[in-house]
Amino acid sequence: MEGKSTMPKRIVIIEDEADIVGLVTHYLEKEGYRVTAVRDGAKGLQQIKAEPPDLLILDIMLPEMDGLEICRRVRADSKTAVLPIIMLTAKGEETDRVVGLEMGADDYLTKPFSPKELVARVKALLRRAERPEAAPDRHVYGDLVLDSVRHEVRLKGREIVLTAKEFGLLEQLLKNRGRVLTRDVLLDRVWGYEADVISRTVDVHIRRLREKIPLLEDAIITVKSLGYKLKDAG
Ligand code: CA
Repeated sequence: MEGKSTMPKRIVIIEDEADIVGLVTHYLEKEGYRVTAVRDGAKGLQQIKAEPPDLLILDIMLPEMDGLEICRRVRADSKTAVLPIIMLTAKGEETDRVVGLEMGADDYLTKPFSPKELVARVKALLRRAERPEAAPDRHVYGDLVLDSVRHEVRLKGREIVLTAKEFGLLEQLLKNRGRVLTRDVLLDRVWGYEADVISRTVDVHIRRLREKIPLLEDAIITVKSLGYKLKDAG
């Protein structure tokens, strides 16, 4: 469509049920994707770490290591923290689905699912991953991931509880990394017009962020008499 040839997208499926692997592989290859199937959890995780794919389809019930644990570990690794993941869950296993999404899966399909539905979900997730500006909901900074839609912050996969203002401040810093944000700008964007607050308030909240997330202690730089900036690295 764009007139330039692109490498086929690589998809890894970790699933031990041969029927499902066959079905998924068939339909995805027909769409031009390169599919690698792995049958056990531990090997699957190795494979992803060695060569991160463009998308992961992950079953929950697996030999050696279950899908939830794989999901957690994939999210905890900065190399794969934003890898699109579709979780496969058994019918009726509502808790698996909830835990899966909590562990950081982007989407899920309940077995038995239609191949068309699978292909549609894969395409949608890959499209979102390709245009990060269209999905400004996820900010990665080293081992830290802030998800604006889910309103959560994770460090190495573990959720960190922040107040609404701390969250807003961190979001602003991540969106504008490398740039100085004055106290006034931060007050305006995070506190808005409820602002009977003084600029000292910003300092207090920045201090709390640094305490809660040690990684930020050095990463947030105090720019004398101006405000703050987040170091560009990360
Ligand atoms: Ca299975």
